[in-house]
Amino acid sequence: MKYAILGDIHANLTALEAVLEHARKARVERLVSVGDVVGYGAAPSATLSLLHEHSVVVVQGNHDAACAQQIDVQVFNPSARAAIEWTRTQLSRSELDWLAKLPLTLHLPHCCVAHATFAHPESFEYMHSTKSADASLDALDCAVCFVGHTHVPVTMLRPREDSTRTAYSLETELDLEDSVRALVNVGSVGQPRDEDPRAAIAFYDSDAGRIWIERVEYEISREASRIRQAGLPQALADRLFLGV
Ligand code: ZN
Repeated sequence: MKYAILGDIHANLTALEAVLEHARKARVERLVSVGDVVGYGAAPSATLSLLHEHSVVVVQGNHDAACAQQIDVQVFNPSARAAIEWTRTQLSRSELDWLAKLPLTLHLPHCCVAHATFAHPESFEYMHSTKSADASLDALDCAVCFVGHTHVPVTMLRPREDSTRTAYSLETELDLEDSVRALVNVGSVGQPRDEDPRAAIAFYDSDAGRIWIERVEYEISREASRIRQAGLPQALADRLFLGV
């Protein structure tokens, strides 16, 4: 089966439209989101509608949980907090309920999905090192798990030639033959932070055992002006152009 996995969308409608079109052309059969579908961006309701329209399966991210009042907004930095509080005013009761009921992890036929870590998905920790990936790699009961959260593509893996070791890879193409377990951070659709402002989209061909990440151009200025018009912090618009 051919999957497309969408990292942190953050209510960036123009970026989401661009990656969905890219996935359609690539004849993807199943669309998956690793969560943080809202927060930061200025089109939360339209983003949720588009996800429903395309039958995207979604796990809950920390911004989704905060919008649904399941996480204290005080743990977020000021601009993230402002966006979360604004997003709450833009969503209907049923949209907020939908965010509240999202699962923290998903087991799909050929992979698992979580927002931050697979081992402790509810604590939304950051996997910045191979050491911090160990608990999730130990807990995995499938060959590959897709995650997001940091907005930076990187893969943590147990190499087949030495499965006691945890390694990382910045390669954007991965052959599952080479690892016994892999945690693939797919980067971000709506707010990339790896200094490449283009939207990230990951593909997974489960028959071929191959995963790869592509980048898609979109009209950033359109989304930036939507953020400014909504009265959200200017920095949230500016960072989109830089990919930070
Ligand atoms: Zn995020």
